[in-house]
Amino acid sequence: MIIVIATTNVKKRAELEALLGASYEVHGLESIINPPEVEENADSFLGNASLKAVAISKLSPHLVIADDSGLCVDALDGAPGIYSARYANESQNGITQSATDETNNAKLLRELLGHSERSAHFTCALVVAQQGQVLTSFEGSVKGQIATELSGQTGFGYDPLFIPDGYEHSFADLGSAIKQKISHRAQALADLKNWLVHNTSK
Ligand code: IMP
Repeated sequence: MIIVIATTNVKKRAELEALLGASYEVHGLESIINPPEVEENADSFLGNASLKAVAISKLSPHLVIADDSGLCVDALDGAPGIYSARYANESQNGITQSATDETNNAKLLRELLGHSERSAHFTCALVVAQQGQVLTSFEGSVKGQIATELSGQTGFGYDPLFIPDGYEHSFADLGSAIKQKISHRAQALADLKNWLVHNTSK
């Protein structure tokens, strides 16, 4: 069965593809002619994932999965939250300098300077859509702490700063095998896979 993953983030796509496993043939946005740039202007992870899944599914005959995810830090009232990818965007003279994983992590460390309370969680919302209709959605989350310095080489985004509860090292240090067992994305995708098994034919 073919599934289209509606993301331009290659590392996110790789995680979803690995979690889905070999039973599914995963296509990316390259399988869509002129994929639109979807404006993520909803006020929740689920809302933004729905916008992406619905827009892309109008252009494909296959099931489409969209992921919207991010990091919510308690001491920052839930920031960066739905703005996780663009947290360190900077605007100068009307020109936006887009954030990178490096600038986002640097901003997070600056904002938490001097804070001893560093609890946080990642959330992942997954939406399944077909021909412009949402079929179902799932959410997963994982709690942890924000480290005081970057550590580790694997993963993406805030992984070098996020130490999941029950561990002493960051997701980027722990590596993909552990992240793929306990992450927000792993939890949401486990429920999604179960839904696929019961609601689709291969
Ligand atoms: P989205 O592509 O709009 O959903 O933005 C997701 C952003 O949230 C990413 O660019 C990362 O900054 C952050 N994020 C989401 N999931 C993860 C993860 O598994 N590890 C680290 N950062 C993540």
